Amino acid sequence: MMQRLNIAICGCGPAGLAAALFLRRSNHRVVLIERFAEPKPIGSGLLLQPGGQHVLEHLGLGQDIAALGQPVTRLFGKETVSNRAVLDVQYAALGDGRHGLGVHRAALFGVLYAAVMAERIPIETNYPVAALDRAAGGRPLIISRTGRHLGPFDLVIDALGSRSTIAESLYGPKLHHPLAWGALWASLPWPASGFDPHTLEQRYTRANRMIGVFPTGQRSAGCGKQAALFWSLKAQDYTTWQAAGIVAWKAEVQSLWPETAPLLQGITDPDQLVFASYGHHTLALPVAGRLAFIGDAAHSTSPQLGQGANMALLDAAALATALASVTDLDQALAAYARLRRWHVRLYQALGAVLTPFYQSDSAVLPWTRDRMFAILSAMPGGGPLLASLVAGRWLAGAAPAIRTLTAPVQPVQS
Ligand SMILES: Cc1cc2nc3c(=O)[nH]c(=O)nc-3n(C[C@H](O)[C@H](O)[C@H](O)COP(=O)(O)OP(=O)(O)OC[C@H]3O[C@@H](n4cnc5c(N)ncnc54)[C@H](O)[C@@H]3O)c2cc1C
Repeated sequence: MMQRLNIAICGCGPAGLAAALFLRRSNHRVVLIERFAEPKPIGSGLLLQPGGQHVLEHLGLGQDIAALGQPVTRLFGKETVSNRAVLDVQYAALGDGRHGLGVHRAALFGVLYAAVMAERIPIETNYPVAALDRAAGGRPLIISRTGRHLGPFDLVIDALGSRSTIAESLYGPKLHHPLAWGALWASLPWPASGFDPHTLEQRYTRANRMIGVFPTGQRSAGCGKQAALFWSLKAQDYTTWQAAGIVAWKAEVQSLWPETAPLLQGITDPDQLVFASYGHHTLALPVAGRLAFIGDAAHSTSPQLGQGANMALLDAAALATALASVTDLDQALAAYARLRRWHVRLYQALGAVLTPFYQSDSAVLPWTRDRMFAILSAMPGGGPLLASLVAGRWLAGAAPAIRTLTAPVQPVQS
């Protein structure tokens, strides 16, 4: 067994909260650090893949998240000009009864945060992390933007998300490559008709128009079911979009996809749509001395493949697995890097390669996309191949967090 470590986890997103639960249950001394006065979720919905659900199940939170989320069994997309189906992936092709889970970010955050609170894991709030000071005999101190110090710690885990100040202080501000395209996102009541409650649906016009709708279940128990609606938009066009007002935009969306009318009725103010910019980076190694990177701090990409939160949870599980498997910290961190290496690299590469097929001004890429999909779907084994891609399972054998976590980890009495 690894000796009891004094661990700081920076960031209360899905990666940080899950890591805190795993490591506290492995009997380490853990403190979470968050910039906000009160940790909170930001954003609309996301699709949680089977691997991420599996990690939550091991934390004993599977039922809680399943009770709030909405099972998503199919991803379906049509091109609006040809009216041709260019995406149709059924999770049933996985053959094991697993499916995606549409969740509101508030639900995922709420379930993890409640468990963190129940286990009395301390959280240092109002602490905007700026960088690490690694002078104290190799044991890092955490420095805030106002110059406060915390630590030293045996291990710091960077779960600060895609614009991690720790990662940028080490590797420079150019680490994160902003992508030209992002999207507007809204959370709306689930419409009474027009949409299948178990399908994530998209409409595309070439690759320069994309609308998506998927069910995200409840924000918290007792709330109504919700939908996430997103509209692809270039970051440079956001101010023009705001200035134009929403009437013309709603008319355009409805002309491309008439069934969105009841959803659009719920949008009366442009502020209901939040612009999310996307970026891409992958750390060559998610460890550096007594520092481990997990989640978006280690790798971020456009959400086209819906893997970010999934990967964040897998990272947390893999790091905890590695720390539990050897007695030496350096060896454990090297093991963590190995466990996640190929799965992360593959999905980061797929994210980078596939995104322009859905978000770009190219005419050739969407033309190719539409034909490739028809060929892949018609191929023997094409359905299961696409389903396992979407479920995050390609090279998942190299993500043995899924395999090695054979027993749920129990809460410890504090
Ligand atoms: C629009 C959009 C849609 C997405 N859809 C999907 C999807 O369908 N499926 C999916 O799996 N993933 C999706 N993702 C990706 C997913 O949201 C992220 O991969 C996931 O949230 C990463 O979790 P994280 O804990 O690493 O980082 P984050 O969720 O970003 O959490 C970081 C935490 O660190 C805190 N923090 C940041 N900076 C500091 C600082 N300097 N000091 C102190 N605290 C700080 C933040 O307040 C936050 O609490 C989507 C992302 C976006 C933007």
